[in-house]
Order: sequence, then structure tokens, then C-alpha cells
Amino acid sequence: MLRLAVTEPGKPEIFRSIQGEGRSAGEVRTFVRLSGCNLHCTWCDTPYTWNWRGTKWPHYKDAPGAPHKFDRDAETIEMSVEEVAEAVEAVEAPPAPGVVLTGGEPLIQGSALIELIARLKRADPALLIEIETNGTITPSAALAEAVDLFMVSPKLAHAGDRPALALRPAALAAFAALKSAWFKFVLREASDLDEIAASAVRFGIPSERIMVMPEGTDSATLRAREARLRAPAEAAGYAWSDRLHIHLYGDTRGT
Ligand code: SF4
Repeated sequence: MLRLAVTEPGKPEIFRSIQGEGRSAGEVRTFVRLSGCNLHCTWCDTPYTWNWRGTKWPHYKDAPGAPHKFDRDAETIEMSVEEVAEAVEAVEAPPAPGVVLTGGEPLIQGSALIELIARLKRADPALLIEIETNGTITPSAALAEAVDLFMVSPKLAHAGDRPALALRPAALAAFAALKSAWFKFVLREASDLDEIAASAVRFGIPSERIMVMPEGTDSATLRAREARLRAPAEAAGYAWSDRLHIHLYGDTRGT
């Protein structure tokens, strides 16, 4: 079974859209948003996949006496691999050449994730499979073989996660060794570039597979950070990623 996020109670967050960020930005994809995450980033833009009522994780949308929490039962749906595959195949035109498995953290779904990929590829061997991951879980050989693109997003200090949880050397080194893995670091300040450079050395991440992306969930914030940070990021040798979906649709689910 797989646990998915929902756009409304009972409706899985499976949708076709433009990929807004990372290596395949600008391309049409079908997205499957899986629920659950092993990290708890303070600026996370999908907290409805993990920030459950009764937990203590802080989030930037917390208000005094009103923490930004979600009801796990209302926000998730369990589906079989076959049900998810059929829902992906039922998404309306235009046709997408690829599927993005995102979250939350998709790799916590274990073998069901590989079963889903195998099922989708059986129906369409040419289908591109992309996974967006926080890079904390070492991909199995079967997963590495089945996935065309991993967009790995290790979390810097500003995400607020414990470094020992967020930066797992074995997992990041395993991703770094895969030609199919690209890395996307979220950028807030120019000083973050030093942290990225240190991570690249520590985990053996080739700089030509590093992208940096401004943190923000509205166009004004993204543009302001781009104006300040794009030049120093590119001078450091990193490719820039925008967040096109935010400019197009805002911070909304199912887009
Ligand atoms: S790893 Fe990603 S999904 Fe998980 S809390 Fe951080 S930003 Fe959100």
C-alpha cells in the first residue's frame, strides 16, 4: 500500500502540471504526492504531508496559540499500487512523458514505491520516472536502476532539521555516485553557498550536478532572492532553478 496526500478529503493528489523546478523544469509531468516525511523543515511548503496535530514540530506559519497543524486522517489516503497506477493513467490530456513521485519523502514508502514504478513501466516502458527526495535514505539497487532522475534536496541549516538526521553521509554519497541524481539546494542567503560547497566536498557531489533554488512560496520573495543570490550562485558554478509553478499558480495544492 502507498499513502498519498489529498487535494480534498478522499481525493489523491495526482495531477498533471508543468514541473516548476529542478532538472526537468518547464516540462509536463504527472505528479504523485506521497504523504509522510522523516524530516520537518520549518519552511516546508507541503506540511500537510507530515505536520500532524499533536506533534511539536515548528513551522513558519505557526501563530501564537495556533500552530500550523494538520489532521493526518483527513489529509491522507491509502491506496494500492494498482489503484495509484490506474489514477496516474486516468489523468486527462495533454499526455505527459513522465511521472514525478514526490512528497513528503517518497523513499519512506519502501518496496511499494518500486512496485509502483514497475507497474507504470510495464504499461509504458518509455515513461520517464523522476523522484524528488531529501536524500536521507540510500536508494536500493532496484530503485536506482528503475529511476531516470533523482532530484535530491539535502537540507541546509536554515531548514531547522537536526544535521545528523538531515545529512546522512552514506545516503548522500550513494546518490552522488549515481549519474541519474541531481542535487537541488534551497537558498536563502549568500552564506548558504559556503554550506553547499562544504556539503559537495563532504559527500562527493559533483558541482556540475548541483542546482540552487530560492526559498519562497510567493513570486515576490522568489524574485527578491533571485536578484540577490543568482549572480553569486552562478559565480560559484551552480545552475539556477526557479519555481515556475509558484509564479503560475501560487502556493496551491495539485499544481
Ligand atoms: S524534506 Fe521536503 S517534504 Fe520533508 S519537511 Fe523538508 S521540505 Fe518538507
